[in-house]
Order: sequence, then structure tokens, then C-alpha cells
Amino acid sequence: MRHVIVGAGPAAQNALETLRALDAEAEIALVCDEPAYARMVLPYYLSGDVEEAALHTGDDAWWETLRVETHFGRRVAALDPAADRLRLDDGSELAFDRLLVATGSRAARPDVPGAEGEGVVDLWTLADANAFLAGPHRDVVIVGAGFIAFTILDAVARRAERVRFLELEPQILPRMLDPAAAALLSARLESLGIELHTGASLEEIGEAGGRRRLSLSDGSTLECDAVVMATGIRPNTGFLEGAGVELDPAVLVDDHLRTSRAGVFAAGDVAQGPDLLGGPRRVQAIQPVAVDHGRVAGANLAGEDVAYAGSLTMNVLAAQGLEAASLGRWEQDEDAMVVENAANHIYRKYVFEDDRLVGGILVGPTVAVTGMNDVGMLKGLIQTGVRLGPWKRYLAENPLDLRRAYVASGAAKELLGSTLLAGRAVGGGGFRFPRLPARRARSSHHATLLSGAPG
Ligand SMILES: Cc1cc2nc3c(=O)[nH]c(=O)nc-3n(C[C@H](O)[C@H](O)[C@H](O)COP(=O)(O)OP(=O)(O)OC[C@H]3O[C@@H](n4cnc5c(N)ncnc54)[C@H](O)[C@@H]3O)c2cc1C
Repeated sequence: MRHVIVGAGPAAQNALETLRALDAEAEIALVCDEPAYARMVLPYYLSGDVEEAALHTGDDAWWETLRVETHFGRRVAALDPAADRLRLDDGSELAFDRLLVATGSRAARPDVPGAEGEGVVDLWTLADANAFLAGPHRDVVIVGAGFIAFTILDAVARRAERVRFLELEPQILPRMLDPAAAALLSARLESLGIELHTGASLEEIGEAGGRRRLSLSDGSTLECDAVVMATGIRPNTGFLEGAGVELDPAVLVDDHLRTSRAGVFAAGDVAQGPDLLGGPRRVQAIQPVAVDHGRVAGANLAGEDVAYAGSLTMNVLAAQGLEAASLGRWEQDEDAMVVENAANHIYRKYVFEDDRLVGGILVGPTVAVTGMNDVGMLKGLIQTGVRLGPWKRYLAENPLDLRRAYVASGAAKELLGSTLLAGRAVGGGGFRFPRLPARRARSSHHATLLSGAPG
């Protein structure tokens, strides 16, 4: 059986490693226009915490171990509508029995004059990060205050002297936090000198004395050295137009990650698939979904019959000393429990249906390690849908003690079944960064973890 995988991000790589672990005989080819790397590590590269080598997730020796024929630097231009064949941008062709589309998404800029001009960058790819670092960036405006903008905020703030946000909606992180949680985070950012311009849209980017001048819908202007666009993403589906693969706008997939065309699968940011909590199929453009999709798609490419339970809405970020996470149906107010301590930067919202947790928001200081553990436990409780019984009342009385409810409800045991997929390791269990130089300096968070004292 000949498999072709398009893309080399986390969805493609997890599919590739799962497929190879399950089928030693499979013939596998991989095509990607970029090198294999993890976008999620880009913020640490931007900040200078890691070298470029730390981004990469494969090298020649690793592809050899996996016995995969690689076509890096090549783009797939078209999928033949009538034959199981891809055309690449150099005119060559690749035939397949099974195809995995794992082409991710790309940054989308607003359609305003000057948006494509000099001094305007996305921070979505390694090339974008290098373009940002190469240009002037002492005074930066980030357009869009959503999840991706916040993943890069600390890095940009470390590089720049002045950082401002421009956001169309009246609050920051409008698709991740409710107004109260967003207000808590906003107050923190403003206290650290990060300016927030909310409720105004970008109308034009012009030039003034060698700097960028942004004209806003409220009549004001902002001048800066660099504009970072973080205004959303679009799935990379161009080569699938007219090829019998249903798009809406991403690639529609079923619970086996199969598209509407026989033998063609899709995974990761490009795939619009089942939601764990029901409702229409949706894109959930985050790393854990790309990894799960990849593993399930890889197993099905290998001929197994593995169903995917669905993705859980989940965004987790750390910015300026605070961590924020929202999961599941966090925006629901019915049967919700809220606890807030603004002075200590703590905000929690738990959303129930009957005695099951279906969503939540957690905000707290980064140094409170329990915060991140709680994200994992809240995720497990929502994912498994275990009944809390008396523990629902316990949480109302002790909202910061998720641990007891998690242990007592048996959520961890329930989760075991879903974490054992493709437990067989290939090539010693993963790429090992053989040429990575020693890390330069440990962060203060690391010191805190080791010593128990603030770093
Ligand atoms: C700065 C940044 C920070 C992030 N931080 C987080 C985080 O903290 N947590 C989190 O969960 N997620 C985070 N994400 C999102 C996460 O990185 C993505 O969800 C994930 O990369 C999706 O994986 P993927 O394999 O589907 O696609 P990608 O990683 O985008 O890989 C797809 C690859 O396919 C290539 N490709 C596209 N079209 C073609 C074609 N026609 N021919 C050949 N190749 C093609 C692309 O160039 C790309 O290299 C972050 C993303 C960015 C940019």
C-alpha cells in the first residue's frame, strides 16, 4: 500500500509515526513546503530562549529510521479529480493508494490598504519569526488580541520597548475568556505598561517618517516600528478545489478522519471534525487536536478501525506572569459557578450540566503550579463526562480543590482507554534533537519548580 502524507507538522508527524509503528511494510512519502518543525515552539525562539534547532522535529536520520521518502521544499499544487495522484509545484506527480491531508492553516490578514506593506508581519511560521527579528521592532502594535497574539506576547514584549494591542471586540481574548476573566488579565497587562485599544478596527496602514501609521475606525492613529498581524487563520485547502473533497471551509472529516473522497483522510488544523461535546463539525486549531487527529488518522491509514471521540475546545496560555485557560462550553452561564479574587489574579468558572462538568475558565498566577495541574484535571473531568455526585457541592464550597473531585470521580481510570492508542514506539520512541546545542539559561519558572521559592 502506498501512502502519501502532505504536511510535516504535528498532525502529519503523529500520523507518520503511528502508521509506521503499525505497518512495517507500508510505502510512505511525505511532501511539505516547509521543514518539519513545531509552530508551538516559535514563541520561545522569538524570545531568544531556544535556538532554531529546538523547533525542528525531524532530520535525515529520523526520516531514514521511519523509512519515508521525503519531498521537502515542494508544494502540492493539485489533487487529480479523477485519479489517485497529486501534482507538485515542479510538475512532478505522486501516486497514492491512501492520502493524508495535514496541511494546517495560514495566517489571514484583514483586507485593508497597507496590510500587505513593509513592516507588517504575521507570526505564524518560522520565516515570519525571522522576518520580525530582522526588521525594526522597538515599538510594536499587535493587531488582534486573540489566542495566537497572546502566545507570542511575552516574546514580543521581551524584544520590544513598547507593545500595544488593537482589538476589534470590546475585550481581549473574546473567543477564549468571558468579560470578567478578560478584565482581570487586561488590568494585569495595563499595570505592566502594555496598552490595549479595544472596540476599534484597523482601517488603513500608512507610512509616516519611516514608521507605520495605523488609522483606526474611531478616528485615532497609532504609530509604530512593526505591525504584527494576529487576525485569524484560514485552512490550506487550495489544492483540493474541485477534487471531490467536501470543504466547509476546512476539510470535512468523519470520526475516522475520512474525507468525502474514498482513500483520502485529513487531520489537524485543516480538518473540520467531530466535537467531543456534540454539535456541528468544527476546526479546533490547537496542537493537542493535531496530535490526536494524527494518531487516529495514522492508525486508520494502516487499516485499523479507530474512531475519534471528538475534539474538546481548549485554549491554554501564559502571558505576563498569568496563566489562563478555557475549556468546553466555558461561555455558558446557566448552572455555572464563579469564584473571583481580582487582587490575587484568581478567576474560576465551572460550568455544569446536571452533575457533570462541561466547561470552565481558569486564570491564575504562573508561579502557582497547581493552576496547570488543574487545567489537566478539568480537561479530564469534561472529557470523560463522569458524574460528580456529591463532589459538585464540594466544588461549590472548595472551588480551588479540583483534585479531590478528580480522584474520587474516577476520571483518570476512564481516560486510560483513550491514551493507549498506538502505544508501540517506533525508532526508539521519537525524534531526539541530536544536534541541539546546550540550553543557554534556565528560566525563573524552572528555578521555582526546583527550589520551591520564587525564581
Ligand atoms: C506562534 C504559535 C504559537 C502556538 N502556540 C500554541 C499553543 O501554545 N498551544 C496549542 O495547542 N497550539 C498552539 N499553536 C497552534 C499549533 O501550532 C497548530 O494547531 C499546529 O501546528 C497544527 O498542526 P498541523 O500539523 O495541523 O499543521 P501545521 O503545523 O501548520 O503544518 C502543516 C504544514 O503543511 C504545509 N503545507 C500547507 N500546504 C501545503 C501544500 N499544498 N503542499 C505542501 N505542504 C503544505 C505547511 O506549510 C506546514 O508546514 C501555535 C501556533 C503558532 C503559530
